[in-house]
Amino acid sequence: SAQKETLGFQTEVKQLLQLMIHSLYSNKEIFLRELVSNASDASDKLRFEAIAQPALLESDPELKIRIAFDKDARTLTISDNGIGMTRAEVIEHIGTIAKSGTKAFFEQLTGDEKKDASLIGQFGVGFYSAFIVADRVTLTTRRAGCPESEGVRWESEGHGEYTLENVDKATRGTDIVLHLKDGMDEFLNDWRLRQIVRTYSDHISLPIEMQKSASFDEDGKEIVSEEFEAVNQASALWSRSKSEISDEQYREFYKHVAHDFTDPLAWSHARVEGRQEYTELLYIPARAPFDLYERERKQGIKLYVRRVFIMEDAQKLMPHYLRFVRGVIDSADLPLNVSREILQESKDIDAIRAGCVKKVLGLLDDLAANDADKYKTFWSEFGQVLKEGVGEDFANKARIAKLLRFVSTHEDSAEPVVSLADYIGRMKEGQDKIYYITADSYAAAVGSPHLEVFRKKGVEVLLLIDRVDEWVTASLTEFEGKALVSVAKGELDLGALEDEADKAAQKEAEESARPLVERVKTLLGEQVQDVRATLRLTDSPACLVVGENEMSSHLERLLKQAGQ
Ligand code: ADP
Ligand code: MG
Repeated sequence: SAQKETLGFQTEVKQLLQLMIHSLYSNKEIFLRELVSNASDASDKLRFEAIAQPALLESDPELKIRIAFDKDARTLTISDNGIGMTRAEVIEHIGTIAKSGTKAFFEQLTGDEKKDASLIGQFGVGFYSAFIVADRVTLTTRRAGCPESEGVRWESEGHGEYTLENVDKATRGTDIVLHLKDGMDEFLNDWRLRQIVRTYSDHISLPIEMQKSASFDEDGKEIVSEEFEAVNQASALWSRSKSEISDEQYREFYKHVAHDFTDPLAWSHARVEGRQEYTELLYIPARAPFDLYERERKQGIKLYVRRVFIMEDAQKLMPHYLRFVRGVIDSADLPLNVSREILQESKDIDAIRAGCVKKVLGLLDDLAANDADKYKTFWSEFGQVLKEGVGEDFANKARIAKLLRFVSTHEDSAEPVVSLADYIGRMKEGQDKIYYITADSYAAAVGSPHLEVFRKKGVEVLLLIDRVDEWVTASLTEFEGKALVSVAKGELDLGALEDEADKAAQKEAEESARPLVERVKTLLGEQVQDVRATLRLTDSPACLVVGENEMSSHLERLLKQAGQ
């Protein structure tokens, strides 16, 4: 219906608006980057839909973005002729935040502006950043393929509510008019706007046009041109050669594809030739998104075929344990009309994916070897996720194992800084195993009586205190020929670490403790499998040990908690 209705924002949108206006004030020009980024996404979507339905392009096939301003009205307008939105889509996308996990994320907010402001980067601000500079935003849109009478106008002052009405709109796509707040006059300046576009949006692959700057005739009279010109380079960033791309441009492109706010940690850009020809530009973010553990998240890697956007799908293009990777893959060989179903079956995609996984692991090797600080950041944000790879990616297991970092008795802290290679480098003479203990916490691990004999002998033990570690040890049974052995399982085999004196002492202990052991066995009866005298304890009188092939007591607890 055409009548105007007033709707309320979802609570989370209100919170986001509040927080954003305060926290991003000093960085306010980024609103333009966000709106241009959306316009570019909308054009990508249209170009893709038009492959199957060319009529969607109507008589207007040149996709572009336009920025115009009106000094007198104090408005700034960003227009695109992309996919546009229906009324239902406007309500879904511009009044609510549809990402799963949003509610939980907002529940974490403390009300402390500083703390919350740093959280917001994890979330991404997008469209709502318009309200940093505007006290009223009018969005008028028409979905490609819908008649002119099905335009929709959305308007809001960014407080609690917005209005919606149907309008006629002659052109396809979306116009966003920002009614600027007092003091925002810098955005009514041709030079300033061009500078912002070049800084933040140069990488956008379609032209971002502005009216040609005014010139002057011989009498000094201003001639205002009605013509538009592109302000950016308007070529897909990933298709340019590396030497022509600055780090700043790489970073801005990341913010666009990843919908992230913070600079990336590292990236890899390469043109791959061979059986499959493609270009990949892949990034490691510096910060985990709030929904890293949400199962349904789709975003991640964008697939293009010869610069036409095909789809965004994390699952088909990256394995689950690398779901934090962001970027684009542009294939030169796949057919343009490739469907999701075809992709699901495609051997070509499998080859591209395998190549990209190698690139990402190589990038991580490189960080680990050459930039300890960055690797530490990476590990604290994504280490838990990468660990899943040991069980998930059989072909790359050894490479992933090299990238793992553990807490260890070698350090006096709970910081995971020890690699398996570090451990092997410090092995005692005669030691041929990598020893570890699993526990719920650092305190439980270091306090464990199982460590006593290792302390006495000066042998390092890895302290596996993360939930995912049980799965790591289930799949990673050896590293570079050295078995990984739990110090809490079975009869402790210290191998050559045990000297003759130890063996003699063990024998003696068994002898002298025999009556006691027998008594304890009778007392405990069915509750235990065996009772043994041991030298593995130096301070504690007794400890529980699980059988060689049994679940560790820690895993048993985890499964119980999970209701299994
Ligand atoms: P994001 O871009 O991360 O999805 P935004 O807040 O920037 O988040 O945008 C929210 C959604 O609104 C987009 O995903 C898109 O569906 C829709 N949208 C925003 N701007 C446009 C536009 N210019 N044309 C079509 N749809 C748009
Ligand atoms: Mg966006």
